[in-house]
Amino acid sequence: MNHDRVRTRYAPSPTGYMHVGNLRTALYAYLIAKHDGGDFILRIEDTDQGRYVEGAVDVIYNALRLSGLIHDEGPDIGGPVGPYVQSERKPLYKEYAEKLVEKGEAYYCFCTEERLEALRSQAEALKTPYKYDKHCLGLSTEEIKEKLSNGEPYVIRQNNPKTGVTTFDDDIYGSISVDNAELDDMILLKSDGMPTYNFANVVDDHLMGITHVVRGSEYLSSSPKYNRLYEAFGWNIPVYVHCPPIMRDAHNKLSKRKGDASFEDLLEKGFLKEAVMNYIALLGWNPGTDQEIFSLKELIEIFDYRKINKAPAMFDMEKLKWMNGEY
Ligand code: GLU
Ligand code: ZN
Repeated sequence: MNHDRVRTRYAPSPTGYMHVGNLRTALYAYLIAKHDGGDFILRIEDTDQGRYVEGAVDVIYNALRLSGLIHDEGPDIGGPVGPYVQSERKPLYKEYAEKLVEKGEAYYCFCTEERLEALRSQAEALKTPYKYDKHCLGLSTEEIKEKLSNGEPYVIRQNNPKTGVTTFDDDIYGSISVDNAELDDMILLKSDGMPTYNFANVVDDHLMGITHVVRGSEYLSSSPKYNRLYEAFGWNIPVYVHCPPIMRDAHNKLSKRKGDASFEDLLEKGFLKEAVMNYIALLGWNPGTDQEIFSLKELIEIFDYRKINKAPAMFDMEKLKWMNGEY
């Protein structure tokens, strides 16, 4: 795979809803890829089965198709190309977690829920943030072998360094550093063999040759964790493009819980999809000219992600109506 070719992805979790903020993330990822003649990939992040909502994949799929953000590849090439679905890639994550164990960057942990609960209570009593105490890092190879052959349940944890700093660069928000001493040895593979969310995300971004990771700014603070994983594997870190939040009012972000502006609803209310796409392109991005009406084709031509704003964008129904030709 040629990693120099621009490749982006939209990686939604199937929670049954797609508000205009989610669609904007997909649009920016699409525009970054297409501006450079690159590839746009769709990946469903459904490893957290507890959050899975029936039919949610169809909602995402339909919204993307309707809005013209057609992804370029996926499984079953030759027939209709589907999205990549993480739950169908489960063995792969196990294999990669084991690779980190071999490198000494991760370890098996057999701690019981009671032991972890005691650690948590202890941290609470001391008013320090809970962190796993690396207890199982001290197990010998024989002990581990025995436990595995006895079928004892385990998780795989990342073996983070206790000293040094991890730095993370975002092309929009700049640089963030965290003290490694603050990092927990996060679980990579759960006891049911499912990867954790961050782990699957990083493994897939690497395997899919993603050059630009586009996502909402809510992921900014956990991004150093992602970088620790790239470092542990020795993989190239992609360009990060975090997008500013979209506000429903002065105090609250658009939220699916509050039923804010879903793409489907807007279309049902009679908004033209072209108007909606035009509107959301400008929610947090500035073309640098006073042109306000753009087709998708024009957006592809002029889109420069370095002009994405840091400041939150306000969802403005009146402006959307204006773009819809209502004034
Ligand atoms: N799966 C995440 C979500 O639906 C996005 C994570 C990412 O793009 O890295 O919010
Ligand atoms: Zn343990």
